[in-house]
Amino acid sequence: MTSSPNLKRGLEVIIDPNRCIANAKCTTVAPGIFVLDDETGIAVLADEENATVEQIFAAARACPTQAIIIEQYGRRMFPQILTPMFGDDAD
Ligand code: SF4
Repeated sequence: MTSSPNLKRGLEVIIDPNRCIANAKCTTVAPGIFVLDDETGIAVLADEENATVEQIFAAARACPTQAIIIEQYGRRMFPQILTPMFGDDAD
């Protein structure tokens, strides 16, 4: 699980590697902001400095597996409902 605590407005982007299927939707929506890691193939937020709120939310909305989670001041903003993945604990 990677997070990016240096965004403006108290925003934090968390990318869950267990959810990321490396289909590059986020990198298409926000090129240069999200990139796929060369070694792992998992998406990372590569440019916190220049990432806009719109790009972050657009990428999170484009992700089919809800791998991009957005928090603000520690409170989850997106997705509002995090659907369990196959294999997640049921509790
Ligand atoms: S859109 Fe989601 S699943 Fe696809 S590469 Fe980005 S984070 Fe991973």
